[in-house]
Amino acid sequence: MATDAHDGPYSIGSDQWPGTSRVIEEAGELIQVLGKLIGAGGRTAHWDGSNLVDRLTEEIGDLRAALDFFIAANGLAAQAINERSQIKSAQYTEWHHQNRG
Ligand SMILES: [Mg+2]
Repeated sequence: MATDAHDGPYSIGSDQWPGTSRVIEEAGELIQVLGKLIGAGGRTAHWDGSNLVDRLTEEIGDLRAALDFFIAANGLAAQAINERSQIKSAQYTEWHHQNRG
């Protein structure tokens, strides 16, 4: 979707924290799909006929893209973010294996 003159600060194309609103929007969409997954008791076939794995795939991709844009457009420390991400990812994997016994 193209930006236009009505887009405000915090949107893609602005000078003030560009991409902030998109990160929030995409995070909300991922939360919505996760809520549907919980509401369906973990089943992936949603009552509206959609497949929740397909929707999760789309929204995770959307959020990752929004975060990547946000990091680049705001000149954040991508290397430090990647290092932090790797540490957290390893921690989550370790917790997962511990909790599964
Ligand atoms: Mg989306």
